[in-house]
Amino acid sequence: MAQVPLIAGNWKMNAGGADGMALTADILARIGQVEGRCDLLICPPAVLVAAIVRKVAGTAIAVGGQDCHGQVSGAHTGDISAPMLKDAGASYVISGHSERRTNHGEKDFQVRDKAAAAQAAGLIDIICIGETEAERDDGQTLEVLSRQIAGSIPDGASAANTVIAYEPVWAIGTGRTPTAQEVGQAHAHIRAATEGHVTDWQEMRLLYGGSVKPENAAELLHIDNVNGALVGGASLEAGSFLAVALAAIEP
Ligand code: PEP
Repeated sequence: MAQVPLIAGNWKMNAGGADGMALTADILARIGQVEGRCDLLICPPAVLVAAIVRKVAGTAIAVGGQDCHGQVSGAHTGDISAPMLKDAGASYVISGHSERRTNHGEKDFQVRDKAAAAQAAGLIDIICIGETEAERDDGQTLEVLSRQIAGSIPDGASAANTVIAYEPVWAIGTGRTPTAQEVGQAHAHIRAATEGHVTDWQEMRLLYGGSVKPENAAELLHIDNVNGALVGGASLEAGSFLAVALAAIEP
């Protein structure tokens, strides 16, 4: 297993206009530090996907959506389908982010439908899983991860079309992270639990997400079975986003 690390920036509902274009320009200006050694992905608000795709054309930066609907078209006001993202030039989409699961009540079966739609559209799907603080305190972390894996991964998942992001809900945007040992245990568990759900499960990239920043990236990104990061807050500044990427590739 020798994946090039994937460092994905989830901008959430931020940088959706001129500020997002300026951030992209800033990332492009600094990309030389990591180009060719690390896959970079930015997931801006949907309104900027097409414009950013045009701006990064010919560079090593990929663009992704933050969510998609499980169906191709229809009466789903406000939703975006996977083929629409593909048409806009996206190559990835995030599914099942904990903010979608919490704020929009998305369940595993819906995440699975979204991931299947992404797969059918030719997008690489980043399926997010992770335990809440209460589940962690109850000692249920590994059980929750197994349940989410079984419920959220669609048939046909492979290392080529699927990435899993382990994002402890309590670590997202809080500045708190699990210990390296806890991350290692969770990722080893996720790797093993994907056997039977993902054809070439040993090759699939597993990202860690939750308060990754330049100060903790080196430690988190050198843990076994951590093949990159899903970065929220620190992806909104080019310097910190690329510092995380640099930490992933430096020994
Ligand atoms: C995220 O939203 O996926 C995330 C990991 O956010 P943050 O890095 O800000 O914790």
